[in-house]
Amino acid sequence: MINTVLAKVFGTSNERAVKKLLPVVEQINAFEPSVAALSDEALRAKTVEFRERIAVKTNGIEDADALRAAEMAALDELLPEAFAVVREAGKRAVGMRHFDVQLIGGMVLHSGKISEMKTGEGKTLVATLPCYLNALAGRGVHVVTVNDYLAKRDAEWMGKIYEFLGLTVGVIVHDLDDRQRREAYAADITYGTNNEFGFDYLRDNMKFELTDLVQRGHYYSIVDEVDSILIDEARTPLIISGPTDQTTDKYARVNVIIPELERGELTETIEQKIYTGDYVVDEKHKAITVTDEGWEKIEKLLGIGNIADPENWDLKHHVETAVKAHTLYRRDVEYVVKDGEVIIVDEFTGRLMPGRRWSDGLHQSIEAKEGVAIRKEDQTLATITFQNYFRLYKKLSGMTGTAETEAAEFDKIYKLEIVVIPTNRPMLRLEHQDVVYRTAKEKYFAVADEIQRLHDNHQPVLVGTTSIEKSELLSQILQKKGVRHVVLNAKFHEREAEIVAQAGRLGMVTIATNMAGRGTDILLGGNAEFMARQELVKKNLARAVSAAEGAISPTAGPGMTRFYYQGQEFETSHQQWDSVFSDFAARAVEERAKVAEAGGLFIIGTERHESRRVDNQLRGRAGRQGDPGASKFYLSLEDDLMRIFAREWVSTLLQRLGMEEGVPIESNMITRRIEAAQKAVETQNFESRKHVLEYDDVMNKQREAVYGLRRGLLEGVDQKELILDDYLTTALSSALDANAPADVHPDQWKTTELFAALGDVFGPGLDREIDASQLNRHELGEAIYEKLRGRYEFKEQILSPQGMRYHERVIMLSVLDSLWKDHLLAMDHLKEGIGLRGYAQQDPLVAYKKESFEMFEAMMLRFQEDTLRTLFRMQIIGPDGTPIETPEQMAALRPAASPELEAVEVSSGENAAQIPQTMREIPIPTRAPQTTIDELEREFQRRKERELNAARQAGGDASAEPAAPRRAGEKVGRNDLCPCGSGKKYKKCHGAEA
Ligand code: ADP
Repeated sequence: MINTVLAKVFGTSNERAVKKLLPVVEQINAFEPSVAALSDEALRAKTVEFRERIAVKTNGIEDADALRAAEMAALDELLPEAFAVVREAGKRAVGMRHFDVQLIGGMVLHSGKISEMKTGEGKTLVATLPCYLNALAGRGVHVVTVNDYLAKRDAEWMGKIYEFLGLTVGVIVHDLDDRQRREAYAADITYGTNNEFGFDYLRDNMKFELTDLVQRGHYYSIVDEVDSILIDEARTPLIISGPTDQTTDKYARVNVIIPELERGELTETIEQKIYTGDYVVDEKHKAITVTDEGWEKIEKLLGIGNIADPENWDLKHHVETAVKAHTLYRRDVEYVVKDGEVIIVDEFTGRLMPGRRWSDGLHQSIEAKEGVAIRKEDQTLATITFQNYFRLYKKLSGMTGTAETEAAEFDKIYKLEIVVIPTNRPMLRLEHQDVVYRTAKEKYFAVADEIQRLHDNHQPVLVGTTSIEKSELLSQILQKKGVRHVVLNAKFHEREAEIVAQAGRLGMVTIATNMAGRGTDILLGGNAEFMARQELVKKNLARAVSAAEGAISPTAGPGMTRFYYQGQEFETSHQQWDSVFSDFAARAVEERAKVAEAGGLFIIGTERHESRRVDNQLRGRAGRQGDPGASKFYLSLEDDLMRIFAREWVSTLLQRLGMEEGVPIESNMITRRIEAAQKAVETQNFESRKHVLEYDDVMNKQREAVYGLRRGLLEGVDQKELILDDYLTTALSSALDANAPADVHPDQWKTTELFAALGDVFGPGLDREIDASQLNRHELGEAIYEKLRGRYEFKEQILSPQGMRYHERVIMLSVLDSLWKDHLLAMDHLKEGIGLRGYAQQDPLVAYKKESFEMFEAMMLRFQEDTLRTLFRMQIIGPDGTPIETPEQMAALRPAASPELEAVEVSSGENAAQIPQTMREIPIPTRAPQTTIDELEREFQRRKERELNAARQAGGDASAEPAAPRRAGEKVGRNDLCPCGSGKKYKKCHGAEA
């Protein structure tokens, strides 16, 4: 009962939301006559006028929030007229006039919500309205699509409207280099996939120069197929990872001693636990315990001192993991060894999972046990979840045909409301009741019979399956029956789209997985445009456009039309295009009438998907824009969903019904039961996505802090005061607190230790300069501070202020990156280990938050200290190898700098021009931390190579490769180019050992 009540309430609130927008539709319509009377030029001039109107409203506002509010208000005010202008441009540039419901969809997108619009309602065109309006603010609009093909298609198709109005359009696809990406992001509107946008963000945060960044902020984004991107893909975060330099010999060293150990038993009495042997194994909890005798034996076997000493912690962990590898992990049960590799066996399905690895050294321990090559661990260099990436946008919106079932998640995670937009024409699709068979086999034969029946009547059929194997199974049955059909198992989105697009032709039978060709419009009678493309290419009537040409300008020159065919872009004259296209269009109209008479497209579902949303997506393929059509699902009690989530219920049902072979049941009870199972799975999946997010949220705060600091460094924000007033005073107070606490009499102060500790960071000599015995605590602190500040200022005199700022920036960046990388690795380990805390009655998430916070604090302290140490202890060495100790010495050297290298410096950044070549060599001072200095050297090396690369590229050297982009799951190889875009090999850049 509640459900129908709720539905009504939801219905009315949705209706109210839509109704509120109707007066605006009228305003837009009222503009139509005057806008239609404008010449093309006058229409285009509207863009300039709108921009001026925004400028007037926002002029002189300094405060960022106030500016944003003023800008938003200006856009809201412009909306009716701007939408009218886009509608007019739509008519002129692509021959489509936005329907009134599309205007409503556009307004919902503009307001930062989700427009739920059924398939075929023209969401691609809807997006042009808010895209244009928001692009007027000049901060960039991102349109996110599910694949590269759709990004290109939509940018090309809708680009005609934007360019007509004088806006620029860019597309981000997989194979672009940084320069091309930067150009695409600089455009008013940028199309691309979620992966590309997310990875560009991560890569940008590994860059060393502001000018290398490709993105220019996260202002407004429209996510197409928003459920697929923000929900289905949200379970796996984006990760850029690379191999570490950790050695693997410990695994082998530990492995050989395990057989020497003796397995014991655990006997538990009420009073105590008695262990025997060297270790005991707890199979239920997959845990092991090494006994005290065991550890003694291990110490002897390994020839080490106390295993509990800090320097042996690592070995202790290795031993424990190796014992597990030998006792709890069995060959051919938990894993198999194939071609010299240890491959995990999935515990539920029994399937091999090549490529997956156990974490925390377990996989390596098993490799050692099996005597195969031990692979090094990978480590995360940068990572983010889609949830947190998309939260970066000041305004986020989305569109899809199927969002409503996930309303709670959109609201909770993204604060996105959903507005269901009415269809342009009444929906005519016939939705048949589900039919259920006892076995999968009976089901498939019934499906095949139905297809044959429909096919005999020339009605087109699109069959959705849950996997390629199931598509093929059905295909075999149809082959035996002699029914002609197409099986779609192409791996390429574009091929997929081409085939799916023709699924509405007379008598066509198409079998595809449920999600194949998502976003492709199925026109009854066939898609004339796709057929025209094919014809033009086959008959050589179009010219292939090279990739570089395509990236620079997504639209064709005057008189020419561009289109994609099988992943390649082509160009032909308007005339040529029109003549071929109109021919196909005429034929399609005739065929459409016949298909409509046969009942339109018939959708057959062969299994209910885990989520209702995907079922709805498949159903939605038919009955677009008031077309006739039908949908029907065929199920069996053997389907995964039934088996896994309703097993007992199913078997009782079987007994009760005593179903006969081949006879289906059509029952509301079953349909309801299936929906309940789907809802249960949806909830479970939501929980698991929430789980990923809860963990990422912890890191997100840290990532924001680090990226924020990094960004400030790139932007050249002056760090001197921060270093001297914040970092220096913090270090000083903690040294004082440790050695000269306020509550201890000066006689008791450990001044020797104090100066030693300070000397370690700031260089020796303070004890000679300051007589601590004559000072109180406050005076002592002041005296040290003044001395240290003096040293710093003196160094600055030698280097020049610009030189010092430059070194601060470079040193801080290197130190931060190196520590952050280590921190990410430590966080990975923490997350892996934290699951075990559940046993200790601790909420793992709470423990994770607490510990990661402590780790982060420690990292930031270390960052301050390493920064101080490097800056205070760096020495400036002249060309003859002797230190330069005075500004005068320095001055004498300046003209000696090599003009060639100075030129390199000039191009490397605004401040760098002042720094003579000699400054670029910073030798390793004694006792200074190796890590940061090494990093620094690498940094210089990186810059040098990058500049040489840039110079080479400018000179047209094709061998200078651009940095290769990375995808989720893809890893950087040691010899690949580093994802940060430095142009260096990964092993020499971010992958270099700290
Ligand atoms: P969706 O993504 O909502 O499923 P598409 O954007 O693929 O829909 O558009 C579906 C079809 O409707 C396309 O062939 C498009 O050309 C057509 N279409 C959309 N809007 C209009 C319109 N206002 N006038 C004419 N045709 C339109």
